[in-house]
Amino acid sequence: MNKPTPLVDQFQRRITYLRLSVTDRCDLRCTYCMPERMTFLPRREVLSLEELHQMALGFIDRGITKLRLTGGEPLVRRDMLELVHALGRKLGDGLEELTMTTNGTRLADFADDLYAAGMRRINVSLDTLDRGMFETLSRRDSLPQVLEGLAAAKAAGLKVKINTVALKGINEDQLSGLIAWAHGEGFDLTLIEVMPLGEVEGDRIDHYLPLIAVQDTLERDWTLVPSDHRSGGPARYFDVAETGGRLGLITPLTNNFCAGCNRIRVTATGQLYACLGGEERVDLRAALRSDEPERRLSEALDTAMRIKPERHHFAIDERGQSPALARHMSMTGG
Ligand code: SAM
Ligand code: SF4
Repeated sequence: MNKPTPLVDQFQRRITYLRLSVTDRCDLRCTYCMPERMTFLPRREVLSLEELHQMALGFIDRGITKLRLTGGEPLVRRDMLELVHALGRKLGDGLEELTMTTNGTRLADFADDLYAAGMRRINVSLDTLDRGMFETLSRRDSLPQVLEGLAAAKAAGLKVKINTVALKGINEDQLSGLIAWAHGEGFDLTLIEVMPLGEVEGDRIDHYLPLIAVQDTLERDWTLVPSDHRSGGPARYFDVAETGGRLGLITPLTNNFCAGCNRIRVTATGQLYACLGGEERVDLRAALRSDEPERRLSEALDTAMRIKPERHHFAIDERGQSPALARHMSMTGG
């Protein structure tokens, strides 16, 4: 049999990083991510454990070396650990890194198992250390569980990066304190701009906070030294001289990072989105549920390489309006 060809798109970008959403469900309801009464998908529409596994193997065959499991909240999926263990067996055999983005509420139960399966680094999303604000933002009073989960992750030996969405008039005056706390714990921290994805209640644009402005404010408290660290993602990094820790800034709306894009995303229903900010997609579930799953999957990946757009189309116009893309971040996993 011929060796499978690597995934290279029409702009000669080599795709090596897959973000795979394993569920659209979540135990939190972050206001910028989903409405309180979110309608979740019927289970039959979501890929089964076997389908997720088979699909991931197909990607690894085609040169995906980094796989991030996300959601929704990946740790609310019941058979999640089985999947992590199965994929962990590919580490060193095509796969170089298996990682996860989680809200941390269930980490206390899972941290040791994740490490045992071969995971070494995880991203944990946390926007505030104030319990009341956490509850307002996520509509659940779960900060204590998240902090417990973080302690468990650290004790298990997992390297943690905190992801914080910067929100104007909400947590903007806590960002400096979050840096001090995270670096004190030995965690890196990355700030993210809120993105126009999916309809949510209230006006997300009211809370859009350009990180360029945040950087200026942070520089009053911290010495930010530009770093040439790269994570294979869109973040720019700084070393914080006072803490010795690392700060990342992800600015999808103010900065164009598409030229170096190495990633694709697949939703829990097996829709491959070639770009987080675009509508171009390929239905991998149809391929997986066909008579010839292996061949159809590989063809679908070739199609994805043909349609991956050169750049994203996010925009917030001069009136502060954004033509929100119809899908939620909990579908494509951020
Ligand atoms: N539930 C997990 C979590 O929260 O880490 C994984 C999925 S969540 C959709 C992934 C990341 O997307 C989180 O860091 C979250 O803060 C971020 N996110 C969700 N909606 C967003 C939006 N509209 N703009 C920017 N980031 C968003
Ligand atoms: Fe859930 Fe993550 Fe969305 Fe918050 S950001 S509602 S934790 S999926």
